[in-house]
Amino acid sequence: PTLRHVAVLGATGSIGGNTLDVIARHPERFRASVLTAHSNVAALAELCVRHRPDLAVIADAALEGELARRLATAGVRCDIASGHDAITAAVSGTLCDTVVAAIVGAAGLDSTLAAARTGKRLLLANKESIVMAGPLLLEALAAGDGDLIPVDSEHNAIFQCLPGGRPDLKGNGVRRLILTASGGPFRGRKRAELAGVTPEQACKHPNWVMGRKISVDSATLMNKGLEVIEAHHLFGATPDTIDVLVHPQSLVHSMVEYVDGSVLAQLGNPDMRTAIAHALAWPARVEAGVSPLDLATSAPLAFEQPDLGTFRCLALAFQALRAGGDAPAILNAANEVAVDAFLGGGLSFLGIADLVESVLAELPSQAVVDVQTLNERDRAAREAARRVLRNAC
Ligand code: NDP
Ligand code: MG
Repeated sequence: PTLRHVAVLGATGSIGGNTLDVIARHPERFRASVLTAHSNVAALAELCVRHRPDLAVIADAALEGELARRLATAGVRCDIASGHDAITAAVSGTLCDTVVAAIVGAAGLDSTLAAARTGKRLLLANKESIVMAGPLLLEALAAGDGDLIPVDSEHNAIFQCLPGGRPDLKGNGVRRLILTASGGPFRGRKRAELAGVTPEQACKHPNWVMGRKISVDSATLMNKGLEVIEAHHLFGATPDTIDVLVHPQSLVHSMVEYVDGSVLAQLGNPDMRTAIAHALAWPARVEAGVSPLDLATSAPLAFEQPDLGTFRCLALAFQALRAGGDAPAILNAANEVAVDAFLGGGLSFLGIADLVESVLAELPSQAVVDVQTLNERDRAAREAARRVLRNAC
């Protein structure tokens, strides 16, 4: 196989770490050529010692000197850059042919778009960027003529259940996409039982170990809402053809229903390395270090309808998708502020949906024109959310 040069954006995160684990298993196929982080300079330096990239980028420019000192002390010779734009530049340049977009939140938008525009193989974990800028990302992909392979486990599952990995549903006889959801740590609870839940409880996911932001999103079901919007853009599915089914064991990662009644599912243990390895090696398959699925000893597979009255964020995401235009970007921005506030102790768990709802009501959707306008709307939504938070205190 030809060696893939991989830029791992968000290398110090949960997806970043899993990606580097898969890469290290196959030095003949993959090489981590670019590593980036936001501010965790110690972890980034350690990763550079282990993976010897050509370039390390720290988004917080104030930490470039410290990164340089740490790498010099460790005897690592690689280029160093800093700042948000340095990540985008690294993605666009010749150091990589493959980009793992695993920055969390809207901060990942510019680099995700750059990977698409320059025709790199884009492994998309950063779902916020496609939720925010779906049409622009699709345009950039068409212009760059590269591949997008979804890393989000549900979308990766759907990709695997479509004929020949053809990401578009048209002409494929698809009736419905069924996204599975674990239901998160609060599955089965009613609103009254959620009033006082803490960030620690919300971040204790039953099946997956993930970063704090997506863990809170999983607890509110906003994660599934973002994924519905992601599926709409990735596969061209209308809101009416995307269903969500709660499946607490997280072994069926999603399904595709065809017009003849066939339902194809992708199964596996809940370990992100499966989706990452699939996306890195596609169309080949490589070992990912994941223990084999043993259905004879696993818990019985169960499925149930989501409780949209309790987990209102999922309903709000469908509402934003149906509203169209930049409503998903507004939803995402308000949610990022709300999750931050919840993690910081400044907002209750149930307050997350209330805050998102009021920002959506305050900023009716507009057409998506370009990145600049979108970023302005993202800022306006964040300001509106902070105003609501201040007034509530
Ligand atoms: P983590 O919080 O574990 O990691 C986030 C990474 O992004 C870190 O490397 C962090 O750097 C970096 N980062 C944060 N803010 C910025 C910024 N402003 N500029 C540049 N880099 C930044 O998140 P996860 O790995 O859990 O999630 C990453 C993305 O993947 C999210 O969009 C999430 O929704 C998605 N995803 C995650 C899954 C999972 O299993 N974890 C599953 C499916 C999707 P630093 O360490 O320096 O702060
Ligand atoms: Mg997912």
